[in-house]
Amino acid sequence: MDVFEAIGAEGHEEVVFGSDAVSGLKTIIAIHSTTLGPALGGTRFYPYGSEDEALADVLRLSRAMTFKAAAAGLDLGGGKAVIIGDPGTDKSERLWRAYGRIVDSLQGRYITAEDVGTDHFDMDVIRHETRWVVGLPKAEAGSGDPSPATARGLMRALSAVAEHVWGDSDLGGKVVAIQGTGKVGRDLVRRLVKAGARVVATDVFGPNLQMVIDDYGVEVVEPEEIYDVECDIFSPCALGGTLNSGTIPRLKCRAVVGPANNQLEQDKDAERLREAGIVYAPDFVVNSGGLINVWEERRGYQEERAAHNIDKIYGLTKHILEEANERDCSPLESAMQLATERIEKIGRLRLFRRSGDDRA
Ligand code: NAD
Repeated sequence: MDVFEAIGAEGHEEVVFGSDAVSGLKTIIAIHSTTLGPALGGTRFYPYGSEDEALADVLRLSRAMTFKAAAAGLDLGGGKAVIIGDPGTDKSERLWRAYGRIVDSLQGRYITAEDVGTDHFDMDVIRHETRWVVGLPKAEAGSGDPSPATARGLMRALSAVAEHVWGDSDLGGKVVAIQGTGKVGRDLVRRLVKAGARVVATDVFGPNLQMVIDDYGVEVVEPEEIYDVECDIFSPCALGGTLNSGTIPRLKCRAVVGPANNQLEQDKDAERLREAGIVYAPDFVVNSGGLINVWEERRGYQEERAAHNIDKIYGLTKHILEEANERDCSPLESAMQLATERIEKIGRLRLFRRSGDDRA
C-alpha cells in the first residue's frame, strides 16, 4: 500500500505510528478530522493479518467517527486507533502505558476510549499516562463500559425504524436476527426480549452465544445461516463488512439496524439495500450511544443526562429516513449530507474562536 496515498485519499489530517519494543506495542492512531473538536474514537486491539490491513481499518474507522460525531451533534472530530496483536495474550501494563504516552504526545487532538478487544479496565491503565482518555470505570468517576449505552441508542433507532416501516414504534412481535452476541449484541438481545421481540442469534464464539441461550432462551443458527433467516430486522453486531454483494441478496428482512462499525463493505452497498427494498439505518447514526456516553465524561458524567442525549437517536434516525425518502436517496447519503453540512457550517465558526480555547 502507498501509505501517503492511503492517508490522503479521504482527507485524513494526521496518522501516527507508534511502537515499544519491550512490550511489543505496534499501534496506528488516525486523526481524520478535528474541525468540530478533538478527534475521539476507541482503540481496537486486533490480530490483523498485516500492517496494510491495520492501516486500512484505522483509516476507515476514523473517518466514520467524524460522521458519527457530526451527525450526533457533538463538538468532536473523528479519530481511531488500532493495536496489532492478540487481546487475549498481548496486553500488559507496560504496553498500555507506552500506548498512553503516545496518545498523550498528541496533546488532546486525539482522545481514546475502548473498542473491540479493549475495555474500561484497559482505559484505567492508560489514564496513568494521559488525561486524554474516556470510558473509564465507574469506580474512577467514569462512565464504565459504553456497550449498554450503545444498545440503548440502538433500541431508540429500532423504534424509529419500526415506526417508519410499519407505522408503529412498538417492537413487540418483531423478529430480529442478531449477528454477534458480544458486549453490545448481548445487551441488545436482553432489551429486545424484554420489549417482546423474537430473537434469532448467531456468533462464531460459542461461549458468547451460549450466554444468550442460557439467559434469554433465544433461537440460534450457524454463523453462515444468519443472512437467510426470515426476519423483520437484520442487526449486524459483529465486525465490519458483513453486508456486501454476496450477502445482501440473501437477506429476508425489511430493515437493517445494528451497531457494527462499517457494516457495509462499501458505501454503494447502501444502494444495493435500497434496491432490495430494505431500509438501512446508517451504522454511524444508530450506534452513537456509546460515543455520546463517553463524551459525557468530559463534563462530569451523569447517567441521566447521558441517557437523555442518547435518546435523541430516535429523532435523528427518523429525520434521516424521512429526508432520504424526500430526496429519493439512500439513508446513508442523507446521513452523510447532514454530517458534512454541519462540519462545513460549524467548522467555519472556527474563524472566530479565541486562541488557546481548550473546551475538551
Ligand atoms: P465484541 O467484540 O464484544 O462482540 C463482537 C461479537 O461478534 C463477538 O462475540 C464475536 O465472536 C462475534 N463475531 C465476530 N465475527 C463474527 C461473525 N462473522 N459472525 C458472527 N459473530 C461474529 O464487540 P462489541 O463491543 O459488542 O461491538 C460490536 C460491534 O459494534 C463492533 O463492530 C463495534 O465496533 C461496534 N460498536 C460497539 C460499540 C460499543 O459500545 N461497544 C459502540 C459503537 C460501535
